[in-house]
Amino acid sequence: MKIGFIGLGIMGKPMAKNLLKAGYELTVFDIVKENVDDVVAAGAKAGTSAKDVSAVSDVVITMLPNSPHVKAVVCGAGGVLEGAKPGLILVDMSSIAPLASVEVEKICAEKGVKMIDAPVSGGEPKAIDGTLAIMAGGDTTVVESVKPILSHMGSSVVYCGKIGAGNTTKLANQIVVAIHIAAVAEAYTLAKKAGVDPVLVFEAIKGGLAGSTVMNAKSPMIFDGNFKPGFKIDLHIKDLGNALDTGHGVGSPLPLTASVMEMLQTLHADGCGQDDHSALAKYYAKVSGTKIGK
Ligand code: NAD
Repeated sequence: MKIGFIGLGIMGKPMAKNLLKAGYELTVFDIVKENVDDVVAAGAKAGTSAKDVSAVSDVVITMLPNSPHVKAVVCGAGGVLEGAKPGLILVDMSSIAPLASVEVEKICAEKGVKMIDAPVSGGEPKAIDGTLAIMAGGDTTVVESVKPILSHMGSSVVYCGKIGAGNTTKLANQIVVAIHIAAVAEAYTLAKKAGVDPVLVFEAIKGGLAGSTVMNAKSPMIFDGNFKPGFKIDLHIKDLGNALDTGHGVGSPLPLTASVMEMLQTLHADGCGQDDHSALAKYYAKVSGTKIGK
């Protein structure tokens, strides 16, 4: 089984390396040469384009920023579909708009290429460990056929429904994470202003109902003032934009998502778009005049 991997950023790089460790033959491509070199040093072959990668692959995995990137890499000039043999399976693991997954799958099907959407949750640490949570959408037979490959990148693969359902699930995940980080930052800011050490607040409440994976992962970063990504503010803006568009499209108002979106937009305008999303704490520092951590 020959695998192609396109998009070797924070997530794609460790995911590709886990497939190499599992013994798969891998051909990789990214527009950033250093990213390709890094994965080639771990045992992959370098492709010169998405078309070049798909021409030598049975399965192509994409891990790209957003819908326009996936559309261009799959359907554009020099893209996956130009090199694909009929029967190729495309596993798009990027977080994109569900409707974009539907559109791209339709174009793939016309060329005899089977596509599923399989976005992930867990961030860079779980990408490195191979323990991502994977949410899949598309034809069940195709999803089942690639589960052995996915098992080297994630510890769970949940089938969510037809094409696009994986990305709808991912949007739900991103809504919960964004609102949750904002809630944590808001609560710690209140504590600090009221004279209680936020670190002690975390220690006191993390084992109770308010405690969570998000709180455990992001509190130390907020306390240290360490906003190295991780998951970038700009990527979360992209996800909440897709969530708001999708919500408006299906008639589901998203008032909390809209509020946190404006906080993220404020941070972007302040030049913090490349910070980790835990930098939502900086928004609260700006409006309260008090920093939670260092
Ligand atoms: P990233 O920006 O680090 O990586 C994206 C990669 O795609 C880059 O290396 C870029 O050069 C490459 N790329 C862009 N356009 C390309 C093209 N036309 N051809 C080839 N390569 C191209 O982003 P990331 O953090 O790795 O995230 C990738 C996806 O995974 C996003 O959709 C993101 O929302 C999602 N995601 C990220 C995290 C996280 O914690 N970083 C967690 C879960 C899901």
